Amino acid sequence: MKENIRVYIRTRPTANFAEDTYVLDENKGAIEVHVRDAGKGQVVNHQQSSHSFRFTKILHNSAQDVVYSTCCHDLLTSTLKGYNGTLMVYGQTGAGKTYTMYGGSDSFQYRGIIPRVLTELFKEIDARTDTQFVVRVSSMEIYNEGLYDLLSTATVPDDGLPPSSESVYGEALNIVEDTQGSVFVRNLRRPRVNTEEDALNLLFESQSNRTTAMKQAGHMSSRSHVVFTVFLEQHSRIDATAGVITSKLHLIDLAGSERDPLGKATSGLSPQQLQKEAQSINRSLTFLEQVIVALGDKKRDHIPFRSCKLTSLLKDTLGGNCRTALICNIHPLAENRSESICTLRFGERVM
Ligand code: ADP
Ligand code: MG
Repeated sequence: MKENIRVYIRTRPTANFAEDTYVLDENKGAIEVHVRDAGKGQVVNHQQSSHSFRFTKILHNSAQDVVYSTCCHDLLTSTLKGYNGTLMVYGQTGAGKTYTMYGGSDSFQYRGIIPRVLTELFKEIDARTDTQFVVRVSSMEIYNEGLYDLLSTATVPDDGLPPSSESVYGEALNIVEDTQGSVFVRNLRRPRVNTEEDALNLLFESQSNRTTAMKQAGHMSSRSHVVFTVFLEQHSRIDATAGVITSKLHLIDLAGSERDPLGKATSGLSPQQLQKEAQSINRSLTFLEQVIVALGDKKRDHIPFRSCKLTSLLKDTLGGNCRTALICNIHPLAENRSESICTLRFGERVM
């Protein structure tokens, strides 16, 4: 297992448990996925049809607060210590990625990981009187290898950046790297936030900007990567000679990993557009896997970060001292069996 990467499986509950194809057992850290005959609810021949996977932890029908404390609390702690980090949710469309990251409804208990990060972050900051924190957030979308600022139309102080474009899909942005190897997105808005409420407002604004922009573009695709980032700057109040500590945490709702784009009803897109989307997504998810696998291989000196926008963006937040968590979302219905197995395999390969 690689040192700094944790891989979790989260199953989405279904209305009728009898429909579940998967029974997930925890056995001394090993996870067994028994494939049952969907109709009869029986365990299919163990030798032939059962696959055994190992993950950091399995979250079967777990509540949002448990998912947060299990998968993300440590990551935020290390971000506060000055390490960069990435948390990603992976899985087919409908498996629960967005629910895991953002939350399902307005109800407080169903809040997802990002709002919980913001709550815990400001609570921690308030408790640390010896350090002055500067917190910034950004929100962007990677669609067909274009990178778009989801806060470009937000009503926030814009840090001296050019006036906002009319739509978030106006102008694709470029990724640049400085001499220290830090990665930046040129002209991406990173407004400063002083309170949890400020940060939450921007989060909601970025989500509604995205919905509006998709409506303007005439389609509603969930097939893009959405990256919400928290940037921290720490200035010591005690030691004036101490340097500034900077770190960031990427929280990424990855595009649906399904192989068959035409099988999913995505309104407003032609088969050609769906094909293009699917190619771009499948490539970037494959490159992501290649990068993580290469980072875990001590003999490799070249890591193919430049393969696509997603991996270029993650160059300074994966590997090295960086912490990574991947939550693989599984939709347990029988019809999703092969996609679920693909998701489990992806999780296993990067671990
Ligand atoms: P994805 O982002 O992977 O396409 P969503 O997060 O949109 O999937 O989930 C699809 C639907 O299932 C949504 O209506 C969501 O509210 C619901 N859902 C997903 N996971 C859970 C869960 N753990 N508990 C309750 N509802 C869930
Ligand atoms: Mg989604």
